[in-house]
Amino acid sequence: MVMIRPRDLRASGPLSPDLAAILPVMLTAHLPAGYLLGRALSGRRPRAELLFPAILGAVIPDIDMLFFHLVDQGSFHHHLYPAHWPLFWVGLCLPLIVSASLAGWTLLRDATLAFFLGILVHLGLDSIASPVYWLMPLAEGRVELVEVPARYRHWIFSFLLHWTFLLEIAIWLLAGWLFFRPRPRRRIFAT
Ligand SMILES: [Zn+2]
Repeated sequence: MVMIRPRDLRASGPLSPDLAAILPVMLTAHLPAGYLLGRALSGRRPRAELLFPAILGAVIPDIDMLFFHLVDQGSFHHHLYPAHWPLFWVGLCLPLIVSASLAGWTLLRDATLAFFLGILVHLGLDSIASPVYWLMPLAEGRVELVEVPARYRHWIFSFLLHWTFLLEIAIWLLAGWLFFRPRPRRRIFAT
């Protein structure tokens, strides 16, 4: 198997090299996006067995930030680690989903599927304004839909004042509305 070496993000990109390597880019919306996914999968009433795996999947790829900071000292963009490779998660989740299906363990199958879909949501959101290598390690498959230019002195303003941040706000608002809206009461007596 030929291992692909992706382009070194320190050598290119709209932001300064160091910032490009450090930024999480999708700043805050992974958690509420996972909640939205879990609610969408649940149907009318939230189902914990789908909600929690979906939320976990939607945030788990960024666990590589620990390795990035503590071990590699920021040598590579953290999207180059396997936790941000879709095929890595396919290799982990697919056997479990197939095995659970064959064994009739529908709860495990559904929870794993929700977890996997959460990961895809995470990587899809990451792909909007930072590179994700969708075919690694077989090929580079780099997807980065929008480049956020470093317009302001501090990187946080470059992101907060870029239109892509509106998407994060929209995800938070929708998730907040779903979470806090009054639940319809069950009718005890027929009228
Ligand atoms: Zn990420």
